[in-house]
Amino acid sequence: MKITMAHGSGGSSSKELMSEIFGKHFSNDVLDKMEDAAVLKMTDGEIAMSTDSFVVTPVEFRGGDIGKLCVCGTVNDILMMGAEPKYLTCGFILEEGLDTDVLDRVVASMAAQAREAGVKIVAGDTKVVEGSGGLMINTTGIGIIPEGRDVSAANCKPGDKVIVSGTLGDHHACILSARMEIENEIKSDCGCLKDITDALFGEGIEVHTMRDVTRGGMGTILNEIADSAGCKIVVEESAVPVSEAVKGFSGMLGLDPLYMGNEGKMIAIVPGDQADKALELMRGTEHGKDAAIIAEVTEPEQAGGSAVHIKTPLGATRVLDVLYGEGLPRIC
Ligand code: MG
Repeated sequence: MKITMAHGSGGSSSKELMSEIFGKHFSNDVLDKMEDAAVLKMTDGEIAMSTDSFVVTPVEFRGGDIGKLCVCGTVNDILMMGAEPKYLTCGFILEEGLDTDVLDRVVASMAAQAREAGVKIVAGDTKVVEGSGGLMINTTGIGIIPEGRDVSAANCKPGDKVIVSGTLGDHHACILSARMEIENEIKSDCGCLKDITDALFGEGIEVHTMRDVTRGGMGTILNEIADSAGCKIVVEESAVPVSEAVKGFSGMLGLDPLYMGNEGKMIAIVPGDQADKALELMRGTEHGKDAAIIAEVTEPEQAGGSAVHIKTPLGATRVLDVLYGEGLPRIC
């Protein structure tokens, strides 16, 4: 069946879509009440909240789909503040002509990923617009920050080490390959980073800063952190993990994995004397098995300054700047 404007009318077709696709996959005690708004029990203390819109094309790709991507993307942003993700809302924009089989698979995938991440989808909305069968999703998430946890870009300090959870560029290379119809085995890294954050906090690692390495890539994110903290970050290029397949693919197209988008990678910045333990903990998780220490945080060259430098394998040092221009549109 194809989506038609009637599915957005609020009438019988909308009801059908609700019960046959969304209700079937998303059912839980909060959502099933079908009230105008979800009523949630909150605790004292701080919550973390994040919202993101997902417009990736193609909507299904090797290693994931827009449904898995939107849950992981929002959950990861909440995790990066040291919070425990609890609730998600989702808004769907369906274009006329979308195949309901595709929608069903995407919604099933969202539900499965939400279960895995331990979050409940508690509110949602659907609109249908004219178009050519596309699908876009906005997700908003809420998490609770446990007492005493303080993770922020501004918290990293000279002497800290930067650990990346795995190889860079996989999601970007996967989407670009699909778009360019290049056959290869590159799979998106789309995934939820909860196993890593659980491992680090579970063993009492004093994490100063975390960021998921999404659009803009590692180069951009390290610059944002250096700016917030007023530090210099020095990256060891030879330590940055990139798979052979992505190395070959990006080399062919003249892309730099340091600026390529990822959807299941993060950095953790930890005190230098806890870095080896944190690395070992990360490597013990599914999503962090290829983790590596790639950089250290140092004093800025002048007070109030910040910079990111990269040491090349030949011993030269250059500035690692932010990404300029659009790397690849509709990657997430
Ligand atoms: Mg983020």
